[in-house]
Amino acid sequence: MKTSPPVPPRVLIVGAGPAGLALAIELGQRRIPCLLLERNDRVGYAPRAKTTNVRTREHLRRWGIAPQLRAASPLGVDYPSNVVFCTRLSGHELTRFENAFFCAPGRNPLYAEHAQWIPQYSLEEVLRAHAQSLPGVEIRFNSEVLGFEQDEQGVRATVRDLKREETCTVSADYLVGADGARSLVREGMGAKLEGQYGLSRNYNIVFHAPGLAQAHALGPAIMYWQINEDVPSLIGPMDRGDTWFFMPTGVPQDFRLDAEGSAALIRRATGIDLPYRALSTDEWVASRFLGDNYRDRRVFLVGDACHLHPPFGGYGMNMGVADSVDLGWKLAAVLAGWGGEALLDSYMAERRPVHQMVLDEAVANHALIGNQLARAGLEADDPAGAALREDVGARIQAAKSREFTTLGVVLGYRYEDSPVIAHDGSRAPRMDYLNYVPTNRPGARAPHAWLHDGSSLYDHFGEGFTLLAHADVPETVLQAVRERLRAAGVPLTVLRPAWGAFAELYPTRLTLVRPDQHVAWRGDDWPDAPDALVARITGHTAVSLPRQKALA
Ligand SMILES: Cc1cc2nc3c(=O)[nH]c(=O)nc-3n(C[C@H](O)[C@H](O)[C@H](O)COP(=O)(O)OP(=O)(O)OC[C@H]3O[C@@H](n4cnc5c(N)ncnc54)[C@H](O)[C@@H]3O)c2cc1C
Repeated sequence: MKTSPPVPPRVLIVGAGPAGLALAIELGQRRIPCLLLERNDRVGYAPRAKTTNVRTREHLRRWGIAPQLRAASPLGVDYPSNVVFCTRLSGHELTRFENAFFCAPGRNPLYAEHAQWIPQYSLEEVLRAHAQSLPGVEIRFNSEVLGFEQDEQGVRATVRDLKREETCTVSADYLVGADGARSLVREGMGAKLEGQYGLSRNYNIVFHAPGLAQAHALGPAIMYWQINEDVPSLIGPMDRGDTWFFMPTGVPQDFRLDAEGSAALIRRATGIDLPYRALSTDEWVASRFLGDNYRDRRVFLVGDACHLHPPFGGYGMNMGVADSVDLGWKLAAVLAGWGGEALLDSYMAERRPVHQMVLDEAVANHALIGNQLARAGLEADDPAGAALREDVGARIQAAKSREFTTLGVVLGYRYEDSPVIAHDGSRAPRMDYLNYVPTNRPGARAPHAWLHDGSSLYDHFGEGFTLLAHADVPETVLQAVRERLRAAGVPLTVLRPAWGAFAELYPTRLTLVRPDQHVAWRGDDWPDAPDALVARITGHTAVSLPRQKALA
C-alpha cells in the first residue's frame, strides 16, 4: 500500500470528464490543491457533446482559455451553425434554423462569448491542458477509485493504479464524484437517481466519409435532421477532415449495429453512396434521471453523476460544467477560511431546481424528433409531397425553435431558493425559455455589457465578490463595504462603471456579485448593520435543508 502524495490535496475529484476538469480548474485557479482521478485515458471519439454553449464559454473566458477553444475548433469558429431539416442529405430541404445556439462570432450585448460547435473531446483537451498547467492540480489517469470513507477530519479514497496494478489510499478534506452516469460515489454516499429509464434507444456513430460535404446540395450546417419514415436520424460534420457523426434515433429494442452495418445504414439514410468507415459505434439510451441527494457531509456529486437527460438542446455537459463552477468557488471559500457551512448546503439548493427545469426542456425536445415528424409521402416528388413538406416545415419552425434558440434557459436560470442569496422580496419574472431578459435581481446572472474600451464588464470582475456602484455612491460607503468584507476575509473588487446604460442594467445603486457572476445582493444603501447580510452571503447563517447531511 502507498500513502498520499507529497503535497496533500484538499479535494479529491473522481472522474476527468468535463465536470471534473471544470472543478479542478475552479479550485486550481484559486490555489486549492486537488487530485483528479480518472480510470481511463479519456481519448478517442466518444459519442458526446458538440455544443459548448454561451454560458460555458463565458466560464472559459473567465479562466482565460476562450481563445484556446476558438483555436481548437476543427470546423473553424466562422463555420455557420445552421441546423437543416431535410428528408435526407440527398433529398429535399424542409426548413432551417440559422445561428443555432448563438454560435456566430460577433458581439451580442447579452453575453461575453458566443457558443461554439466543437466535439467534446476537443473541448476536453483544452480543459485538460489548462488544468494541468495550474500549480496544485494533479491528474492521474488509469487510476480507479474503488471506494471511500469519511469522518469529521476528512475523506479517504482507495485508488487502484490500473497500469502498475498497485493500490493506495489518498486523503483530502472533500471528495467530489464527477464520475458520470454509473457513479460509484453516488452509490457510496447512498444517493439514488430517480426518474425514467429508456425514453428511447439510439445509436451514435462517428465515421469517416471523404467528400460527403461536397456530395449534397444543402449547404454547410452543424446538423442535418433527416426526417423520413425509413431511417429518421441526425447527421453532421465533426471536423474538416471528413469526420462526421450519424445518430439514428428511436431504434427498435432488437436493433443491433456493428461497424459494417453502420456504413450500410449511413448509405441508406443519406441516399449518398460513398466509402463510409465507422470509427466508433455506440448505443445510447435516452432517460430522465435526477439525484435525490447531491451531498453527504464531505462528499458531493456534480455532472452526469446527479442528472441525466436526452441530449436534445445540448445541455448535459454544459450543466455539469456549471455545477462545478457553483461548487468550486464555495469549496475554495470554505477551505480558504472565509466561507461557511451554508455555502456547501447551498450547492444542491441552487443547482437542483435548475437541473429539474433543464430536464423538462430536454425531455420536451426529445418528444418531437424525426420519428414523430416523419409522414407518409413526405419524400414524394409531386405537388402533394411539396405541400406536405411545407406543412411539416412550418410545424418544425413553430415547435423546434425552443431547442436551438434557448437563451432564456442558458442564461436566465436563477437561484431562487438559495440560502446564501439575499433575496429582496421582488417578484420573480416569469421564466421565458426563449428570451433572456437581464436583471440584477438577487440570484440571477449579473447582466452583461460591453465597455467602451472593447472589454467585457465581466473581465473587470474579481476572483472573489465584486461590488458594482453607481457614480453617485459616496466613497465613504464604498470604504465601509471594503472594510466589512475585509474583516470577514472575503476578497472584494469595487467597480464604478462609467457608461450611460449601466444604471438601466443595474437599477439599484449597489449590486454585489459573487465569484460565479450571480448577484448575491442589491440595494440603494449599504446596511448600517451589515453583519446579517455578510453572514448570509458567505454561508455563515444556519440553514436547515432537507435531504442533505451537513457536517456535524
Ligand atoms: C449522443 C450524445 C450527445 C450529447 N450532446 C451533448 C451536447 O451537445 N451538449 C451537452 O452539453 N451535452 C451533451 N451530451 C451529454 C454529455 O456528453 C455529458 O453530459 C457529459 O459527458 C457528462 O460529463 P461528466 O464529466 O459529468 O461525466 P462523464 O463525461 O461521463 O465523465 C465521467 C468520468 O468519470 C470516470 N470514472 C467513473 N467512475 C470512476 C472511478 N470509480 N474512478 C475513476 N474514474 C471514474 C469515467 O471514466 C469518465 O471519464 C451528449 C451525450 C450524448 C450521449
